[in-house]
Amino acid sequence: MIDLRSDTVTKPTPAMREAMARAEVGDDIYGEDPTVNRLQEVGAALVGKRAALFVPSGTLGNQLSLRAQAEPGREVIVDGQSHIVRYEQGAAAALAGVQLHWVTGTQGIVTAEQVEAAIRPNDPYSIRTALICIENTHNAGGGTVYPLSTIQAIRAVATAHGLPMHLDGARLFNAVAASGVSAAEYAQHFETVTFCLSKGLGAPAGSLIATDDPGLMERLRRFRRMYGGAMRQSGILAAAGLYALEHHRARLREDHINAKRLAARLQQIPAVTIDPTLVETNILFFDVDSKKYSVTSFVAALKQEGVLINAVGRNTCRAVTHLDVSADDIELAADRIARLLNG
Ligand SMILES: *Cc1c(COP(=O)(O)O)cnc(C)c1O
Repeated sequence: MIDLRSDTVTKPTPAMREAMARAEVGDDIYGEDPTVNRLQEVGAALVGKRAALFVPSGTLGNQLSLRAQAEPGREVIVDGQSHIVRYEQGAAAALAGVQLHWVTGTQGIVTAEQVEAAIRPNDPYSIRTALICIENTHNAGGGTVYPLSTIQAIRAVATAHGLPMHLDGARLFNAVAASGVSAAEYAQHFETVTFCLSKGLGAPAGSLIATDDPGLMERLRRFRRMYGGAMRQSGILAAAGLYALEHHRARLREDHINAKRLAARLQQIPAVTIDPTLVETNILFFDVDSKKYSVTSFVAALKQEGVLINAVGRNTCRAVTHLDVSADDIELAADRIARLLNG
């Protein structure tokens, strides 16, 4: 199977499993897991922050960042297509007790003017704004990279209003690989930064939340316990994360090349509509307009050919490149898509 549904489907490599098996461990709630401690140090340094906290998932990383920085009854500015809005089961409302204020981005990217317009006035009637969140790269926007200048402009607005910022950097290292901007250059504009070890980096689980603020780190740690995300001998997982950061960061560029190649191949199929210039990293969206297939029957037929992709809308499919898909797999997948839709 060539599995292009998501970059979360990667399996640990033999070398990663070996690192996991060899990991030194301890009770992380006592702060005594040396491998977790090392992952937190390495992860913090990579994004230029003083400290980082290991959490089981990216969703939890986002939710703890919200909970620790926005009191119940406050408002959090996000874009309407963000992971926090679409894919976290309403946790911001259900668990943090905050209200999300959606801004409509272009391919997920919002402007400083839009953010400024969404900040509530300081009067006795208005709900108070507590936090601004952005997502880089933007998942539902098609793996789009936030321009650094846009982040800087949003930061200036946040600072003028005394507001903190959170970066959902589930795929931050994809943004780094695509733009050449360092993770620390992005991260310096945010009070909290999360990134996933389990997406293109290929670890089986885990994310990190990084911050410079010791008081905030203490709150994040206590809320992690409250939310059930504190673990014990989690060094076995942290070892996979360390291995991923060390060995799988640089190769994210290959995923981007593969995604661009797939986009170029798809563009040659008459029944496919795709704008290859929108493929900036490892996520592609494309529309299928076929007399023979609906999107769901196309995805099912393609599965019979050994290629998995996701149907994400009435006409739209999503494909994602990753560690377990080679350049040859991409050519094969494109051949099979072309055969189905041209045949
Ligand atoms: C995957 C992802 C997350 C975290 O998801 P988990 O499945 O909880 O690890 C957060 N934000 C974005 C943008 C993502 O793509």
